[in-house]
Amino acid sequence: MKVEVAYVRGRSLSLSSSLKSMLLSPMDPITPPVSLLDLRFEQMQARLAADGLRPIHARTLWKVLYRELDVAPQLREALSPPLARWLRDHWGGTVNLTTATISEQLRSSDGMTRKLLLRLRDGQEIETVVMGYPGRFTACLSSQAGCAMGCVFCATGQMGFVRHLAPGEIVSQVIAAQRLLRAEGNELRNLVLMGMGEPLHNYDAVMQALDSVCHSPGMCIAPSRVSVSTVGLVPAIIRFTDERRPYSLAVSLHAATDEERSALLPVNQRWPLAELMEACRYHSQRLSRRVFFGWTLIAGRNDSPEHARILVELLRGLDAHINLIRLNATAGFDGSTSADASADAFRNSLKAAGVPCTIRQYRGIDVAAGCGQLRADRLERAR
Ligand code: SF4
Repeated sequence: MKVEVAYVRGRSLSLSSSLKSMLLSPMDPITPPVSLLDLRFEQMQARLAADGLRPIHARTLWKVLYRELDVAPQLREALSPPLARWLRDHWGGTVNLTTATISEQLRSSDGMTRKLLLRLRDGQEIETVVMGYPGRFTACLSSQAGCAMGCVFCATGQMGFVRHLAPGEIVSQVIAAQRLLRAEGNELRNLVLMGMGEPLHNYDAVMQALDSVCHSPGMCIAPSRVSVSTVGLVPAIIRFTDERRPYSLAVSLHAATDEERSALLPVNQRWPLAELMEACRYHSQRLSRRVFFGWTLIAGRNDSPEHARILVELLRGLDAHINLIRLNATAGFDGSTSADASADAFRNSLKAAGVPCTIRQYRGIDVAAGCGQLRADRLERAR
């Protein structure tokens, strides 16, 4: 069945072949480790133990990687001879953090948002955004190169799916952000998986990476400060819930009827709103947690009082918070963000109905902070 999608500059889109195959088989296996950052703590411990090293060596190495961020050469020189020998024999003598290197960095005019373009070993480029708020810093991470979901307003969706990121490539983004912040005397506090890619499509790698950066001998990011976003892969939401993952769930909603949502998010054709909301209710009730919903405000398409009323009905009885997001314009989508008055009226309608909601700050527009925009800009410049 071909699924037609409206709104894209007079073109119609159909589900990409990678999305179709993903719908049949939602989670792909993790690729074999090519970096130390691809290993879980227990895996690193087991590998060291198999070569006769003691558990303390695993803790030391983990701290160098995740706490000290391997920035000072003397850290490696200070490693015990058996550990240094193991690194030389098995990992070419280096503590390999080069799964991703910064190839471009842009800073917003207010200095509060930085967008990093990271080059991976195979030449793929992904984006990481570091956002500063009063007293805290948040990194927005990518989970895939490209994306199979095809959300029509998204620059990453418009470029299509390339491949999943390995756990170490996701961890590398956290390390790159933390290094930048540390150099300025700051510390990363929050993580959001809202960059390029659908995190729950790359479930195992994402969960492993988050477990690694939250692990206590290392970076020790609080799981409660980590948010995983999805466009609504229902089986993965249920798995996330049943596994009692300690991270917040954020669902990109953007529309409250199937007709309107399917026109923006092709994945809604596979898991329509009734199934998605059932999964969200299951998550909220089973774990006693609030579900965060993203709603990108698009002028004239989802920002009227009637849209707000239907949304309130959809969320009735659910512990929910709505984040209203300004649309970042992309070349492949002819919509524009809502006027301030419409956005305020929409928010006020939700609040009047008792639905907690926030209009997210307009961050980093001058650094193409919308997901996939910097990479798309770069490709355009190269052409
Ligand atoms: S919004 Fe997210 S899920 Fe949708 S196409 Fe963009 S990256 Fe993929």
